[in-house]
Amino acid sequence: MSGASATLGQWLAENGDLDRLDRELVASRALKLTRAQVIARPDSPLSPSQRQSLDQLAARRRREPWAYITGEKEFFGLRLAVGPEVLVPRPETERLVELVVERAPQGGQVLDLGTGSGCIAVAVKTHRPDLCVTATDVSLAALEVARRNAQCHAVDIEFRQSDWFSALAGRFDWIACNPPYVADADPALNDLRAEPSIALVGGPQGLAAINAVIKGSGAHLASGGTLALEHGHDQGEAVRRQLADCGFAAVETHEDLAGHPRVSLGRVLAGGQG
Ligand code: GLN
Repeated sequence: MSGASATLGQWLAENGDLDRLDRELVASRALKLTRAQVIARPDSPLSPSQRQSLDQLAARRRREPWAYITGEKEFFGLRLAVGPEVLVPRPETERLVELVVERAPQGGQVLDLGTGSGCIAVAVKTHRPDLCVTATDVSLAALEVARRNAQCHAVDIEFRQSDWFSALAGRFDWIACNPPYVADADPALNDLRAEPSIALVGGPQGLAAINAVIKGSGAHLASGGTLALEHGHDQGEAVRRQLADCGFAAVETHEDLAGHPRVSLGRVLAGGQG
């Protein structure tokens, strides 16, 4: 963008469409300096190749989340590999993990449906090694990332390619799912263009995948089993209603760390429905 900046300070000033923090991080990565050095050395002259690296990395940052540039993201205290095949793990999903970790029965069967990077499955298994964790995704590319994360954190997870429940038999004590729940026309999608839309976009109201998972899960939950779903901050009521309509009991919604209603749970009293 700023092909002619002569010094680092000028380059930082000329790329003001990026946040200050992003500019400093771009400079730190492109020039292999610490952020403190970037801030302390505005008068450093830039060679043409340094300017090119700065401009190229800034252009990438305009299109992509940092996690794709660095290839990793921290989630639930774990460093996970991520790439454009998978949604970048979000802090709001940590609430879903907490609920499974706190409440799943000893030695229980847990399913992470639509695992993406594997963040839920890997975090759950790391903190509750007693659980048997199965993780599915329709995307083979996502499953490859998830497998790598499981390997890297030395946790034993059964991975399976499945379009929601299509390839699954058997029943689980907990099903945890972070489905695509952003509405088709939500302007927020403009800022999420680099991420796979299959992991984000959930129909006109963002509820299509959520409703399909609620309807399908009755046949895959053990008696007394729990479905835990992440959803949009304004979808709690619709999700609770759908859970109740499908015969779930003890329906409740939990807030994420930002105070938004984010995860709803329901229990099946007896298996065999759905
Ligand atoms: N929480 C994500 C966002 O709004 C959406 C994740 C999802 O659709 N599962 O960026």
